[in-house]
Amino acid sequence: MAGSVLLKQRPAARILHGDKGYDSNAIRRQVEENGTMPNIPPKANRRYKNCFSPVLYRDRNAIERMCQSAWNWGSDSISLQVERLLTLLFQKGDSAMDRSMPSSRLVPRGFIVERFDVLSDRITASVRSAQTYAHCPCCGTVSRRVQSRYRRRASDLPIAGRCVDLAVTVRRFRCDGVLCGRRILAERFGDEVLASHSRRTSRLEQIVHHLGLALGGRPAASMAQRLMLPVSNDTLLRVVRRRAREPDERLTVIGIDDFAWRRNHHYGTIVCDLKRRRPVVLLKDREQATAEDWLKDRPSIAIVARDRGGGYGEAMARALPHAVQVADRWHLMENASRAFLDAVRASMRPIRAAVGATVINPALLTSAERLQYEGYLRREETNDAIMAQIKAGVPLRRIAKNTGHSRRVVRAVARGERSDVFRTSDSSLELYLPWLNAQWDSGARNATALWRKLQDRRGFRGSLRVIGEWATRRRRAEKASAETLTRVPSARTIVRLMTISRDNLTKAESVVVAAVEGSVPAVVEARETIADFHAMVRKKDDADLGSWIDRALGGLVATFGRGVVKDEAAVRAAIMLPWSNGQTEGQITKLKLVKRQMYGRGKLDLLQARLIGASPC
Ligand SMILES: [Zn+2]
Repeated sequence: MAGSVLLKQRPAARILHGDKGYDSNAIRRQVEENGTMPNIPPKANRRYKNCFSPVLYRDRNAIERMCQSAWNWGSDSISLQVERLLTLLFQKGDSAMDRSMPSSRLVPRGFIVERFDVLSDRITASVRSAQTYAHCPCCGTVSRRVQSRYRRRASDLPIAGRCVDLAVTVRRFRCDGVLCGRRILAERFGDEVLASHSRRTSRLEQIVHHLGLALGGRPAASMAQRLMLPVSNDTLLRVVRRRAREPDERLTVIGIDDFAWRRNHHYGTIVCDLKRRRPVVLLKDREQATAEDWLKDRPSIAIVARDRGGGYGEAMARALPHAVQVADRWHLMENASRAFLDAVRASMRPIRAAVGATVINPALLTSAERLQYEGYLRREETNDAIMAQIKAGVPLRRIAKNTGHSRRVVRAVARGERSDVFRTSDSSLELYLPWLNAQWDSGARNATALWRKLQDRRGFRGSLRVIGEWATRRRRAEKASAETLTRVPSARTIVRLMTISRDNLTKAESVVVAAVEGSVPAVVEARETIADFHAMVRKKDDADLGSWIDRALGGLVATFGRGVVKDEAAVRAAIMLPWSNGQTEGQITKLKLVKRQMYGRGKLDLLQARLIGASPC
């Protein structure tokens, strides 16, 4: 008989509780020896059968019913015994039983299902705790005496597309602690299963929290509806807010930067933990006082990365005078490059004179250039007239009146700024020129094909005409010698030509570079200065910074040099230390995404909860 086999396998398992008037060991012996039921008086037999025979026959439903009824009688110890047997049976049971999933697996750990009521759109699971005792929250005594029971409701994860309500039967126990002031206590299920007073199981709350973090209020609510999770958008936000907490680890290296609530109107401050690579806090504005207050309470901070503008440097110096400040490396490099561009822009006059002092052959121009060239001839006539008057000593205001041109034009002529043949502004092609030139050199000469490729691969938005004009110019430039067609490039192009390797220049381009280098040595000096700065940052060697500053202050990039002098310690730290503010910039990108997901209406605490709560903990 199955039961006796089972008992032999597990001699330690007790089947019956001893206080019902039976000798459980006697029963065990009888079952083992005879394989039959013992003869028990009728009154007790009922209970005996309830408890015992289903186990022998492995009737799963009967066992569950039995557990329930045993529990309902209030005999938790019987219930416990039977449950142990139940576990034994299912662990050691036959294969058919292994395959069926016990209903208790469908509800959170520690609960036993009494009943499932399945409706079309929801399931109500009546459950109770599997534990037979409770700890008193005041004195910690174990209580086993049940005083009463009540029902508590909570939502759980959906099953098969149906919402699940748990109807939890909660027992009240009497506390047996002698000196405890509390007489009655309700059993608790643990914060990781079902927190006290919570209307959701913890596993549901976790999903709700993550939905709220990932999608925000309303989008998450509609997603939750589809997932059959019963939460409203307000609940979602409430959960996100409630579970948000500022990380409490000791901060040593931080990055600080501002972000725009509304560009040019309202800014906030973000602080990131650079070691752990995550945001720490959002501050409501970017005032020095706000940052200072926050920093003052965190003396453990030793290194702060920040960009060079703004008042964070000063706030830091006041709040944490011992901390090392690090200028942002990317901004340093970028500012240096920009300083060279500014130097070239400031020298455009001599550059134009050097590059543009050549004769133009109208036969070689493209049609658009010919139009520009005709405009140039007209302009030259005007310029001559204006120059004649300037030389005669007529005041600019009077000249403007005489010629009908604006004072701006007259001033430009006086300064010699209106003598370009062709427009030298940055064209839409500027960005694509390196790619186009490479294609051209590799033999791709069909303008339409180039245009298509440029559109597909590079996202070029301009028209075919632009590329056509460019191709014509290239073709003619190849036929004619470099001198016959000169078009003064824009400042940005000159910067590019002057900073890329000589090997990558076309013949015409090297002529331009040679002309600039030959006649405007200050620009060459500026280029070398900036290149040295870049090299210093790349090699992480600040030994030459002092002499570099002297050189920079004397040349075209003096403004940049003065900036470096003003912030020398932070620049040195940027060169030497591995920390930089790139991470913070990345977090700001993420912050912008989260902010826009909430249509820009999320308040500071919610934004912070979503940004910081989402980081891996
Ligand atoms: Zn107590």
